[in-house]
Amino acid sequence: EAKITIDRMARGYLPMTEELEQVLAMKDDTYLLHTADEVRQKAVGDTVHIRGILEFSNHCRCGCFYCGLRAQNDKLPRYRMEPGEIIETAKAASEAGYRTVVLQSGEDMWYTKEKLCSVIEGIRRECGGMAITLSVGERPFEELRAFREAGADRYLIKHECSDARMYGRICDGKALVNRIGCQRNLKKLGYELGGGFMVGLPGQRARVVANDLLMLRRLGCDMAGIGPFIPHPDTPFGGYQPGSARLTLRAVALARLLLPKSNLPATTSLGVLDKNGRDAVFSGGANVIMRKVTPWAYRRQYEIYPTDFGEETDLATARRELEEYIRSIGKVPL
Ligand code: SAM
Ligand code: SF4
Repeated sequence: EAKITIDRMARGYLPMTEELEQVLAMKDDTYLLHTADEVRQKAVGDTVHIRGILEFSNHCRCGCFYCGLRAQNDKLPRYRMEPGEIIETAKAASEAGYRTVVLQSGEDMWYTKEKLCSVIEGIRRECGGMAITLSVGERPFEELRAFREAGADRYLIKHECSDARMYGRICDGKALVNRIGCQRNLKKLGYELGGGFMVGLPGQRARVVANDLLMLRRLGCDMAGIGPFIPHPDTPFGGYQPGSARLTLRAVALARLLLPKSNLPATTSLGVLDKNGRDAVFSGGANVIMRKVTPWAYRRQYEIYPTDFGEETDLATARRELEEYIRSIGKVPL
């Protein structure tokens, strides 16, 4: 039965929650991943898009229970990059071959509308044609409009968890409607919307994952980041188990069937959990990868979850190695 659902989805059928649950629970997911790979090939081809992620501030006013940047984590040394330094770093990334920069931070209101607009305009001016993606949390409509007018093209803001009660609990009392409202505003303003959610959050059932997937479709996400939850010791969720890499792979494959033309990253958290997860997800629907371009002085302080930062290499070398990896799995880096 689950196989029939997969076939129908490959032809454009919109499944019900229960059907998605069944597919997520299949013992053998070979057929699902293979079908997602075929759909990816037909819809978006063999290109793997490389995005440079610039983590410009780790200050955050929020208290999400899963995240190491939460305001209550007083063990974390905090940093903020000045607008000029952000533009310089984006320029270095552009010179190393990156065509997109993702500007990411905690919800840090030190960066006012004016400051962020000046950063966006600076990158526009200095980094010939580089696409700009923002990932700075929830902002009012007016600010989103100003960022768009200044030249931002895309915005990443995951819905994180489609169950409103659970969302309220894990996001320290924030409301899911505000998050979704922000996502809808972004669509209205003509941004490409990057949504997504975490797999394996404490207390999450398969039904929630199924609804998370349907939410991506309902929002009309142009991109979707689906990654496993990874516990950070200095958060309320520090003692829980990480999410399952296998379930994450299945969720990405289903996202490809639901949104054939979307951009789906092999999320960093999946790579952290399972080194082979990255190869597997590229044969199961993914077509995007992000690389940190954050200056090394700050990188270790942007600790959403514990991770191995690897050896200090320069931007161009890291980029070249990533391109080689992409070619080695039979794809075309861009
Ligand atoms: N503050 C912005 C926001 O929340 O949208 C952007 C930065 S936030 C650190 C980026 C993403 O990190 C979130 O959307 C969340 O899904 C992910 N994240 C946070 N803590 C995580 C954890 N422990 N495991 C996996 N992903 C996590
Ligand atoms: Fe802040 Fe984003 Fe982390 Fe929540 S997920 S604490 S909003 S940085």
